[in-house]
Amino acid sequence: MSMTTGDQAMIKRINTAIVLEAILRHAPLSRAKISETTGLNKATVSSLVQDLIDNKLVAETGTGASSGGRKPVMLEFVADAGYAVGIDLGVNYMRGVLTDLRGNVVSERMTALTTVDPDRVFGTLRPFIQQLMDEAPDSPFGIVGIGVGVPGLVDRNGSVLFAPNMDWRDVPLREALSRTFNLPVMIDNEANAGALGEQRFGIGRGISNIVYVSVGIGIGTGLILQSRLYKGSSGFSGEIGHMTIEAGGKPCRCGNLGCWELYASEQALLEQAAELGYKDKDLDGLLAAAEAGDESVASLLKRIGEYLGIGIANIVNVFNPNAVIIAGRLSRARPWLEEAVKDTLERRALGFHLRNVNVLYAELGDRSAVMGAVEMAISSFFERLKTS
Ligand SMILES: [Zn+2]
Repeated sequence: MSMTTGDQAMIKRINTAIVLEAILRHAPLSRAKISETTGLNKATVSSLVQDLIDNKLVAETGTGASSGGRKPVMLEFVADAGYAVGIDLGVNYMRGVLTDLRGNVVSERMTALTTVDPDRVFGTLRPFIQQLMDEAPDSPFGIVGIGVGVPGLVDRNGSVLFAPNMDWRDVPLREALSRTFNLPVMIDNEANAGALGEQRFGIGRGISNIVYVSVGIGIGTGLILQSRLYKGSSGFSGEIGHMTIEAGGKPCRCGNLGCWELYASEQALLEQAAELGYKDKDLDGLLAAAEAGDESVASLLKRIGEYLGIGIANIVNVFNPNAVIIAGRLSRARPWLEEAVKDTLERRALGFHLRNVNVLYAELGDRSAVMGAVEMAISSFFERLKTS
């Protein structure tokens, strides 16, 4: 049986992707080492590497240690072969980064958003992205794409189906941005973006199964299973803050009673603090009070930590992750939450699951989502390289 030209072209694309992936993961490395790790023969590797060098994605970076004969020429991925834009679109701010293809930040911007009206948000977002793009140095691939994290449920076409805190329904964000910039645009929920950001650049590096819990005004979750973002059929994220943890609990705007985020979010903290007479204090004010030794605020934070632990125990029982990463604004309360979360988890989650699970706190702070957004743009560029 003979192969058609089409088959050969496809095999070459797949092999090129395999070689590029090996360099991305293990650089610097030699042609011989690529052959060894991929199982492709040396002549094939040499020819594919030459293509990558011609395309300016790979460069020779000098010689490595010899294992006997001639010193091997080492290969390195060219991080500044292109640039990507990442945007974290918040309810009242937008944050953006321009990075190279390894996620090294070249430029970062932030601006306040004073409106949630979609047209006016676009009106701010477009020049904001353009300014970041204008800061990119010249490169062979230029801007390879734009990734955006949004506080809402996103469908497969990049439309924001529902963003309750922005009052958005069916906003075709990807379409609007790709039409403006004529570039690939990736849109996802901010919790998914945050999970990706921490997995790629933060505390989740090298961990395959992660539950990322973003605790702000509400609770968003991103799930990484077997090193990949799990999206479910219609976005997993929005739902889990609304799992029931109090059978006869408070009514939620979602229609249910006793939802998790009513007991374990920043909103829950502020409401309960107001009942104790701290009506004028925001999160920073309450943390300052706890810091200054205010016992009632400290025990309030502890209770929030217990409820956080209850929800996390439920998730751990279902998904058996290696790590839970607590992120979002409330993660600033770590000193008061940490023990309560851990104790509750140990009391409530199944023993088998607890042997492996670590409770971690986000490393990128306020930048988890924006770094995840840029990672969406970068990884989609590499996916296209493999399939184009
Ligand atoms: Zn609810």
